[in-house]
Amino acid sequence: RTHQIPGHRLPLAKYGGRHTVCTLPGDGIGPEMIAHIKNIFSFCHAPINFEEVQVSSSLLDGDMDAALLAIERNGVAIKGNIETKHDDPQFNSRNVELRTKLDLYANILHCVTIPTVPSRHAGIDIVLIRENTEGEYSGLEHETVPGIVESIKIVTREKIERISRMAFEYAKANGRKKVTAVHKANIQKLGDGLFLKVVRDMSEEYKDIKFEAMIVDNASMQLVSKPQQFDVMVMPNLYGNIISNIACGLVGGPGLVSGMNLGDKYAVFETGTRNTGTSLAGKDIANPTAFIRASVDMLRYLGCHYHANIISDALWKALVEQKIHTKDIGGSNSASDVVNATLINIEKLMEENPKK
Ligand code: ATP
Repeated sequence: RTHQIPGHRLPLAKYGGRHTVCTLPGDGIGPEMIAHIKNIFSFCHAPINFEEVQVSSSLLDGDMDAALLAIERNGVAIKGNIETKHDDPQFNSRNVELRTKLDLYANILHCVTIPTVPSRHAGIDIVLIRENTEGEYSGLEHETVPGIVESIKIVTREKIERISRMAFEYAKANGRKKVTAVHKANIQKLGDGLFLKVVRDMSEEYKDIKFEAMIVDNASMQLVSKPQQFDVMVMPNLYGNIISNIACGLVGGPGLVSGMNLGDKYAVFETGTRNTGTSLAGKDIANPTAFIRASVDMLRYLGCHYHANIISDALWKALVEQKIHTKDIGGSNSASDVVNATLINIEKLMEENPKK
């Protein structure tokens, strides 16, 4: 029941008491997962209308513009991952394009141990806050002469300041005790040096929150050996990507954790590790938990707390009490089994606790 979002205003599209959100099913397992979410929302009468926009790696630029316009119009979207072709240097990631064009500067994941899901460590409860728009993801690469490539990492004080502010304000709003800044300032002295300086200077304004800095290599080792020491972690883009994946792996893998992409105007919800899961598509075997949790994050963002709590509790019951587990977490249930158990639990919870 966390995720008080600092400075958050309710989004744009609300008519007749219902919000309209954009769905971007994307590739791989995305379409079937978005179908599950629509089914769950309609079953529990969540006050949400959907505007679906198709996006895939083969989109033309005009189609991408239409997708961006739809998100701008509604303010909120939930998406699957859009496949990125690795072998075509001309092809930039549509996912990155979407985040940068909408200026979704903060990627926030909450990695928390789920009892009954097998993992090496218990008692993990980490919020990961990753800068989502610059650094190594600037997309500025060129081959100056054959065999020599320049990849440009750009960081700016302005963008570091806003991600640091988000981390400290998030910690404050959610009663968190410590913020750890992850960096490599011993090698990237200017770029990561600026990141470290800005976060450290800002920590002076938050005397009740403990601040520490940790080099990314040590942070990776500490995470896999003693993850319980971390509370909120704030990171530049690429380290954030890697550290988030380690943290998701620690609590059970890509099928479990959701991720929010927030800017000042728009919010896009997706899975924490942003996988396409192409080889799982169409087989009803992918774990729907991460997508369902992304939909719960979205409901909370929209202020629909009754429905967010009902879905979240129903899913928790299915996973923890009824142990309905898909293959990735050691079970033999299908995605539909998880969804159907969640629906049955929703029905009971709504009877016990009707909306006032
Ligand atoms: P794939 O062939 O599945 O697309 P990939 O190399 O493109 O694999 P990703 O889509 O990035 O990989 O996924 C990484 C791994 O996580 C894969 O093994 C994938 O099967 C698994 N995975 C991703 N999403 C889920 C999910 N929802 N439930 C279970 N496993 C998942």
